[in-house]
Amino acid sequence: MFDTEVLVVGAGPVGLTLAVDLGLKGVRCILAERKEAPQFLPKMERCNARTMEIFRRMGLAGKVRAAGLRSDVPMDVYIILAMNEPPLLRLPYPSVAEAQRQIDACTDGRLPLEPYQLVSQYTLEPLLKSVAETLPSVSVRYGCEFLSLEQDGSGVSTKIKCDNRISDISCKYLVGCDGGSSAVRESLGIGLRGEGNLMQFRQALYYCEELFDRIPIGNGPGKGRHYHVADDRATFLIMQDSTRHWTLHAAVETDADMARQFEKTVGIPVKYDMLHVGKWQQNLLLAEHYGKGRVFLAGDAVHLVIPTGGLGMNSGVGDAVDLAWKLTAALRGWGGPNLLASYEIERRQVGDRNVGASRYASLGRRKWRSLWRDPDRLVAVAQVEQRKSNEMIGAELGYRYVGSPVIWDEPGGPEHLFREYVPTSWPGARLPHVWLEGHVAIQDRIGRGYTLLRLGGSREDASGLEKAMRIYGAPFEILDIPDQAARDLYGFDLILLRPDLHIVWRGNLAPAEPRELAALATGHPV
Ligand SMILES: Cc1cc2nc3c(=O)[nH]c(=O)nc-3n(C[C@H](O)[C@H](O)[C@H](O)COP(=O)(O)OP(=O)(O)OC[C@H]3O[C@@H](n4cnc5c(N)ncnc54)[C@H](O)[C@@H]3O)c2cc1C
Repeated sequence: MFDTEVLVVGAGPVGLTLAVDLGLKGVRCILAERKEAPQFLPKMERCNARTMEIFRRMGLAGKVRAAGLRSDVPMDVYIILAMNEPPLLRLPYPSVAEAQRQIDACTDGRLPLEPYQLVSQYTLEPLLKSVAETLPSVSVRYGCEFLSLEQDGSGVSTKIKCDNRISDISCKYLVGCDGGSSAVRESLGIGLRGEGNLMQFRQALYYCEELFDRIPIGNGPGKGRHYHVADDRATFLIMQDSTRHWTLHAAVETDADMARQFEKTVGIPVKYDMLHVGKWQQNLLLAEHYGKGRVFLAGDAVHLVIPTGGLGMNSGVGDAVDLAWKLTAALRGWGGPNLLASYEIERRQVGDRNVGASRYASLGRRKWRSLWRDPDRLVAVAQVEQRKSNEMIGAELGYRYVGSPVIWDEPGGPEHLFREYVPTSWPGARLPHVWLEGHVAIQDRIGRGYTLLRLGGSREDASGLEKAMRIYGAPFEILDIPDQAARDLYGFDLILLRPDLHIVWRGNLAPAEPRELAALATGHPV
């Protein structure tokens, strides 16, 4: 008898998302977090569009938006000398409200269903914690540190220290979401590969009641989320979700320098409190493996990127949702062995590409920063190079699982592009968003199991596939979507989707070998 079905170690945004998703699926899980409580410390601040689509499916998008930045504030990025001088460069990016208007009018699948949302990690974590605590199958335990594990073919036994007492917790599966210096990863003997400790920074958090309303930038609008300073300290000011909190990163010598650097950047006298100063370092690292046996790893435990392009937490949320339904399938008996094995195959290639995308973006940023003595040239270079950090829609939406044992193999496929998103129904891709009759999003029509979309009025007999899926006991439904817009966008009459809305198979005729397709989709030997 096991204490729980899944033990999730670490309640950062990734562990919390995983616990919530497992809880929504009725899986018994314990979430063990070393800290006594969520901390008010800055880290990520932007959920990208894909994460917001995922949160929408979990019923959380509205809550996250309500807790995050107001929808009317632009997400512009500036390069400045100081805030009280005309900006060197302004890259305009729409507010959530404006982005939503663009999405509402979009009919070609190029845009996501949800825009991004600025929400500080210290806001998001307590929100996700409060949701996890309402789920009956989830036990949230702060002040509990993972120490060690042993596993065999049937489960995992662990030593966990809670309130200075060491106890044993056993589980069928364990997931280490315990961040960059993951003890779970270490206990599996899995190393990180790549470039570590590339550059060290100080980061400080400030409370300033008046700055947002008084932003003194030139004649332009001035409101934005990022203010890069063209200097030799790589100074970078970030607005947090309340608009009253700000963070500043700079390569400076002492904590006290962070106060001076803030004042210099703001350029006008403001009253402020410096709430926290910490150090962090830039890494571009990827784990050799995403788990071993019944133990899996997700989030920063397996990929560490430079926070350019927001591919840190957002990649980790992608790991969490990929793993949650596969663990559920294994626990409920309908998932075959290839399903959990596909987690590393699918998500490590995304981690690898995102580490690459982060390197590409940060090299661009380094290029314009090196020209800080020559503002004219800097601006010309930054026009191109800074966009690499802020325009990553291809990496966010366009990832497609290649070579996965649970995706029907269609050789070839579109190129993976970081910067551009081209909607596709190629197996392995995320189902592109499309509006249906009555302005209903197709994602909102789709249930929680496997779905065969029958598009454009197709009458193909899919009962063979339905029967085959039932043999495995997998949740499955056939959904008729007569709207021509969806048929035109996807280019096929039939699309088989998995619970995470990635495409398994597509065709115009019912599958010739339904048993084979059902076996493949559910991870059983074909
Ligand atoms: C300055 C900065 C800005 C960033 N901006 C963005 C952004 O805009 N968008 C984005 O996507 N990403 C961003 N990131 C990256 C993002 O913060 C991380 O990718 C994200 O926090 C990873 O989440 P996680 O849950 O995997 O790990 P973490 O957030 O590191 O959480 C791990 C948790 O595990 C706990 N833990 C550790 N060891 C144990 C143990 N032995 N037992 C129990 N618990 C344990 C820790 O206390 C912690 O709570 C930024 C990072 C930095 C530094």
